[in-house]
Amino acid sequence: MKRTKVINLLQQRPGDEVLVKGWVRTKRGIKNVTFIALNDGSTINNIQIVCDTAVFDESLLKQITTGACIAVKGELAASLGSGQAVEIQARDIEVLGTADPDIYPLQKKGHSMEFLREIAHLRPRTNTFGAVLRIRHAMAFAIHKFFNDKGFVYLHTPIITSSDCEGAGEMFHVTTLPLENVPKNEDGSVNFEEDFFGRQTSLTVSGQLEGELGAMALGDIYTFGPTFRAENSNTPRHLAEFWMIEPEMAFYEIEDNMDLAEEFIKYLIRYALDNCKDDLNFLNNMIDKELISRLESVVNTKFVRLSYTEGIDILLKSGANFEFPVGWGIDLQSEHERYLVEKHFKKPVILTNYPKEIKAFYMKQNEDGKTVRAMDVLFPKIGEIIGGSQREESLEKLEQRIAELGMDHSNLWWYIDTRRFGTAPHSGFGLGFERLLLFVTGMANIRDVIPFPRTPKNAEF
Ligand code: ATP
Ligand code: MN
Repeated sequence: MKRTKVINLLQQRPGDEVLVKGWVRTKRGIKNVTFIALNDGSTINNIQIVCDTAVFDESLLKQITTGACIAVKGELAASLGSGQAVEIQARDIEVLGTADPDIYPLQKKGHSMEFLREIAHLRPRTNTFGAVLRIRHAMAFAIHKFFNDKGFVYLHTPIITSSDCEGAGEMFHVTTLPLENVPKNEDGSVNFEEDFFGRQTSLTVSGQLEGELGAMALGDIYTFGPTFRAENSNTPRHLAEFWMIEPEMAFYEIEDNMDLAEEFIKYLIRYALDNCKDDLNFLNNMIDKELISRLESVVNTKFVRLSYTEGIDILLKSGANFEFPVGWGIDLQSEHERYLVEKHFKKPVILTNYPKEIKAFYMKQNEDGKTVRAMDVLFPKIGEIIGGSQREESLEKLEQRIAELGMDHSNLWWYIDTRRFGTAPHSGFGLGFERLLLFVTGMANIRDVIPFPRTPKNAEF
């Protein structure tokens, strides 16, 4: 007999003999009947198993405790109890795996998020993490669907790289050199020629540079993969390993880029509202009472578009008492971004034309000589969710900026070549997948929207 998933059983009409397999959430008994709530991860909802206590061995029923894995055959019957349409009248129960109640850490009562992080190997079995991980899957699927429907090509950019996209350092080195006896050059520096790749390599911080090469051949591409930042940012919005979606489009100006970013993010939120109802309702009840109304308001709102300079003016005139002082030229902190979004406009904001000093070398320079065509999308509760720009397509201006910043040309020759051969206006952006998930799930900490978070001093599991 084939196993049926709980999500399908709950929609099936009563009468059939069925087989279900899953993990016990709770067991309770009255008189001669035992009720088991069984969950198999296919939905947040459990199926109720009803056992006639007289029919089953006491020793078998004793093994059915929270966390145990069982297989149940029986008749799908109309449920007399409230809360579910159907239940299973058990005929045959097999215990696949016990879970000793004295040591199984996930008992019924609500556990703190901090505690659950310490048992990340088991937390997917909770309602909250089940919901988050199903939504995470749905969002990944929707991302591919959005771009596929628009004719974008999914380009796989390398994880191991010898270029530093942002020029900011903060990369994890990749090496096979022996740490206890590193080969040195005469001047004392590390001899990377003896390393695996014959040069210094790192984990990528962004697939953008290679993404641009793709766009200059295929037109519209996107990447969706893991990225790494060795920054010591212990915040609820930073991970050392996170996933990023980076579309890159030939012939897009900054306005087209903003249009796509807004359409994309609204599409994803709408997709979640339409396809993840049970999980969102659960999170709305248990985690964040304003979650669904916030999601609905964002899909129905036109994002504000505003220059960095106008944004700074608003902050200066706000009279608010910020921890980090405001002035033209500063890199906006989360508190500033959230002031604009949550207090001033009360809707998402796309901020453009940032000072070139605080943005990456590849951004298109404006006529004023001071600003670049950057665009950051700022969201309530999150701050920056997307960072993007129109790219500098002029060979001369790009090379000049690289020289100004004293960057190493030799690692970037292939990137610069795109401006030498058939250059074209183009733009792109990066959406942090976990920042999106923070917004869509209402979870407060980025460590709780990825199965196994990587943060400073934490790489367990
Ligand atoms: P922040 O100022 O918040 O650190 P950033 O300016 O470093 O962000 P970008 O380099 O523009 O971010 O990266 C693009 C997107 O990737 C960001 O808009 C954000 O959604 C996401 N992101 C960046 N750093 C992290 C991180 N450490 N953990 C999770 N997501 C991140
Ligand atoms: Mn950062």
